[in-house]
Amino acid sequence: MSEFDVIIVGGGIAGASLGAEIARERRTLIVEAEDQCGYHATGRSAAFWLESYGGPKVALLSAASRAFLDNPSAEFAENGFLRTRGDLHLSRESWPELPPGVEARKIERPELERMLPGVKPEWRFAVLEPGCADIDVAALHAAFLRKFRRDGGIVRTRGGLQRAEFGNGRWAIRLDDGDDVSAGLIVNAAGAWADEVARACGAAPLGISPKRRTMVQLRVGRSGLRDLPLVDDDAGTFYFKGEGDRSIWLSPHDEIPAEPGDAAPEEIDVATAIARFESVVDWPVERVERSWAGLRSFAPDRLPVYGFDADVPGFFWCAGQGGFGIQTSPAAAKLAASVLLDQEPDSIVAHIDPHMFSPERFRR
Ligand SMILES: Cc1cc2nc3c(=O)[nH]c(=O)nc-3n(C[C@H](O)[C@H](O)[C@H](O)COP(=O)(O)OP(=O)(O)OC[C@H]3O[C@@H](n4cnc5c(N)ncnc54)[C@H](O)[C@@H]3O)c2cc1C
Repeated sequence: MSEFDVIIVGGGIAGASLGAEIARERRTLIVEAEDQCGYHATGRSAAFWLESYGGPKVALLSAASRAFLDNPSAEFAENGFLRTRGDLHLSRESWPELPPGVEARKIERPELERMLPGVKPEWRFAVLEPGCADIDVAALHAAFLRKFRRDGGIVRTRGGLQRAEFGNGRWAIRLDDGDDVSAGLIVNAAGAWADEVARACGAAPLGISPKRRTMVQLRVGRSGLRDLPLVDDDAGTFYFKGEGDRSIWLSPHDEIPAEPGDAAPEEIDVATAIARFESVVDWPVERVERSWAGLRSFAPDRLPVYGFDADVPGFFWCAGQGGFGIQTSPAAAKLAASVLLDQEPDSIVAHIDPHMFSPERFRR
């Protein structure tokens, strides 16, 4: 039986980024059920960094990740992962409000019409959050996995954890292919499957709920859209951003409870997205080029969960990354690693108290 210090369940951005932080210190195996890491939520995101997203505690992790994403060390990656495009927050009723500390400025109507030609007159209020950026998610995920492997980590795909038992200070783990491995610690980075993985290891689920989100790549009768800002509304009913010269990525901002699985878009959600888009600008919709869906997984308080299970020894949660798992990944991984390794946190997260993300909070 192969023996490890740590087995990380899930090779998405959560497992890969935490793995990259600990592989130098612990013999670590990532087991991924699919035949490629990143097949689920990580490979389906809208790929933006937006500081105002997710509330003030998530914003701490997003802001702490910014410098790393912009300007990673040369040994981690040759180039940064961000391309700034800004976010226009729109409202029909009043000036959109952003959390304190987030850089933003009001946009008057003439400037709005220049930034978003064809915007309908009822969108009377707009605030620009200039820091919003696209994230090159594939490159970031690959860089985390590359560092993980370089530091001695091993990735095993088609290697789903089936069940695990803890005894004599170690986990005995049965994988889907019938193979057995052992480790002192299991990290649950299984995204939408986090509660299922907990049950398979004898830990109580925390109520991590997968919610489906739909994305549509839409071809429209307008050109020059590639650098369009991200555009959203204060009621949270849509967002879209430029993709190609005449295409956008659009979401109806849906959040539909779902079972863990290979999420697919439903026609009604695609239609809703288009209807909402048509209420914002007068651009003719030509066709749906493609659509997809993914699962965003939330803990009951919508904060991520990083830390040791309160009851089951050697079981560490790295779950509930909701709609912010990419943009928070550098800081979240460093914070989680400091708890897991019981070490001083890296300076970029030294000001963040990890207790606010501990699974202990669900016991109170
Ligand atoms: C449509 C959409 C838009 C989004 N937009 C953004 C955005 O703009 N910015 C942002 O920061 N975030 C965004 N997100 C959220 C982000 O994608 C997620 O928070 C993040 O990808 C979660 O990463 P993860 O590694 O936890 O999950 P996943 O990528 O889902 O990885 C979990 C992995 O665990 C594996 N697994 C499950 N069970 C087992 C098992 N028993 N054994 C082994 N492996 C197992 C799965 O196969 C999966 O690969 C978006 C998400 C969606 C769906």
